[in-house]
Amino acid sequence: MKIGKTLVSAEEIDAKLAELGAQISQDYEGKDLLLVGILKGAFVVMADLARHITIPVEFDFMAVSSYGSSTKSSGVVRILKDLDNEIADRHVLIVEDIVDTGLTLHYLLKNLRVRKPASLKLAALLVKDGIERPPLDVHYEGFHIPPEFVVGYGLDYDGKYRNLPYVAVVDSVE
Ligand code: 5GP
Repeated sequence: MKIGKTLVSAEEIDAKLAELGAQISQDYEGKDLLLVGILKGAFVVMADLARHITIPVEFDFMAVSSYGSSTKSSGVVRILKDLDNEIADRHVLIVEDIVDTGLTLHYLLKNLRVRKPASLKLAALLVKDGIERPPLDVHYEGFHIPPEFVVGYGLDYDGKYRNLPYVAVVDSVE
């Protein structure tokens, strides 16, 4: 596997997360906010975004199945780890790394809505353009990228490259 062109640099990510963090701090001022990161990919975004949020927040995580070692979405969503906290009457912000087919988030939003949070919104660092997906309101979005398979900043190829501080395309797979 070869890492290709950088689509979003570390500096661009940091500037965008600062902007989103300021907006979130303003929007949730005086409210009790629970950030819900979707593992594994979102742990990097979650850590960096949260440090740009100036109001007190709590963290929780969910783990869902997504890609295995292939680069195509299976469309099958399985909860591997559920939330530790109850979310009834709480303000919940889901933090996701990337919206591709949107199937994972579509399912998660449906699943979490049933638990009657006070509000349920969505933050995603990356949104792939040119993909047909169910209607999905991403309230805080970072960057639109072309519909290519990317790695870095939490996103993996076969479990690796999550530690790259930038987002890059995968050039060749062998
Ligand atoms: P979706 O359900 O929107 O198709 O995508 C769900 C998950 O698939 C994402 O949270 C992410 O973990 C993974 N995914 C989607 N697109 C990419 C990609 O381009 N690269 C990597 N490494 N993972 C992706």
